[in-house]
Amino acid sequence: MIGWLKEILHANAVAGGPSAAPRKPAAPTVQRPAPAMMAPPPTAVRTEPVEAPVSRVRARQGETLSKQLALVIDLNVCVGCHACVTSCKQWNTSGSAGPLADARPYGANPTGTFFNRVQTYEAGEFPGTETIHFPKSCLHCEDPPCVPVCPTGASYKRKEDGIVLVDYDKCIGCKYCAWACPYGAREIDEERQVMTKCTLCVDRIYDENLPKEDRKPACVMACPTGARLFGDVKDPESEVSKAIRERGGYALMPEWETQPANQYLPRHKTPPVKH
Ligand code: SF4
Ligand code: SF4
Repeated sequence: MIGWLKEILHANAVAGGPSAAPRKPAAPTVQRPAPAMMAPPPTAVRTEPVEAPVSRVRARQGETLSKQLALVIDLNVCVGCHACVTSCKQWNTSGSAGPLADARPYGANPTGTFFNRVQTYEAGEFPGTETIHFPKSCLHCEDPPCVPVCPTGASYKRKEDGIVLVDYDKCIGCKYCAWACPYGAREIDEERQVMTKCTLCVDRIYDENLPKEDRKPACVMACPTGARLFGDVKDPESEVSKAIRERGGYALMPEWETQPANQYLPRHKTPPVKH
């Protein structure tokens, strides 16, 4: 785990609990969108509300798990269309994680609760610049700093599949976890005062009412270019493990020592062609 966080946890343990207020700035006040504003994408339709299965089997800090579900994202084929963003929002808004709040959804400066965001960058120097679309959500770290800082035990990592979740009934909205997450992957829901984040669609991937091929996160189902792969990164024969092995998959900022489970497939370099 990150050195500075270890020091804070140690100091808190000596003092008998968290003593310093989190430095995370307060999120703006948000209002719930009208349901009609979000039409469900055809690939991720929820027929009836499904409660996320709350696992009581929690991983101990630093425990090595035999199964770790994760996303592997191919930066070569992501076109920045945001289908993963909207399908994620739709699925989670109509399920046990939602409704996910929005403020001014159609204004000049829209804000809201998103589990998955796509950031777009311009890289390189003209005329050899390239546009990079970078999807980012919770990376389901193997050593997640967001878990041990939680004073109520609301934030936890499941032992059976490595998914990091928040138990909304236990969350007091203190934002310690958001402050501890170095990737900015947690999203406070100001309206309900609970912390939210990507669940890897835990209420979908185990749903036996769905055909087997549809038991994937909504973002994976919606991506039109197949840029998002999903599976067990601890199984060497899984699609995700093969992609990581054969195509140079890498973790985001490994120097932060959180061991992110999600990984990225690097872009191929193609020299610019002059006509
Ligand atoms: Fe926790 Fe952030 Fe890692 Fe997700 S990305 S497990 S929220 S530290
Ligand atoms: Fe735990 Fe909720 Fe506080 Fe995060 S905001 S540390 S999940 S109680």
